[in-house]
Amino acid sequence: MTLKALIFDVDGTLAETEEAHREAFNRVFVEWGLDWHWSQPLYRDLLQTTGGKERIRAWQDRLPNDAPRLSDADIARIHLEKTAIYTGILATGELELRTGVAELIEAARAEGLRLAVATTTNMPNVAALTRCCWNAAPFEVFDVIAAGDEVDAKKPAPDVFELALERLGLPPGACIAFEDSLNGLISARGAGLRVVVTPSIYTDDQDFSQAQLVTGNLAQLGLGDLAALLADEVAQ
Ligand SMILES: [Mg+2]
Repeated sequence: MTLKALIFDVDGTLAETEEAHREAFNRVFVEWGLDWHWSQPLYRDLLQTTGGKERIRAWQDRLPNDAPRLSDADIARIHLEKTAIYTGILATGELELRTGVAELIEAARAEGLRLAVATTTNMPNVAALTRCCWNAAPFEVFDVIAAGDEVDAKKPAPDVFELALERLGLPPGACIAFEDSLNGLISARGAGLRVVVTPSIYTDDQDFSQAQLVTGNLAQLGLGDLAALLADEVAQ
């Protein structure tokens, strides 16, 4: 089947955003007077839970029984404030795309391929990233965006990739997915996609044996290489 579209995860795949997310969580915890601080090793562990609100809930589940807990309404509120802090951090323009991402997207665009996002994060975060890294609105860069809040089940469930495929109007066999995490890989494979994994600073210890290709970055990857991955009929 001919390669028609590329579908990208956002956090960790387009850019190493997780440090900005961690910083935003820690700042909002201080603002709320919470005695919580997520260190890098702890955050690596917490990232096994996808979605910010879900991650806060997973963190609370680890606290001692007598520790104060946030209600679901407060979790929604704190997460909204965290998103504002995160977009503020990105507005400083300090975040860069990972190596090879800009070039691959430009090449795909020039060849008439369609570009999509399938992410667990929400639309304001996607917009903050495209504004920061492309100086453009999300739909100036991507034809289709499927975001976490639009589906019932987040990654590793296949829903968000299935939604991206539905909006592209393409079968999985005409697309390649790009991921940086095991949860994302499982999600994309569940939707029937072939997957290229570029492990990020928080995921480089994970098992990516289900991927068609694992590579440090996208710099050496051309559209011909991706078409070859689709042509390989032996799905791994
Ligand atoms: Mg990711």
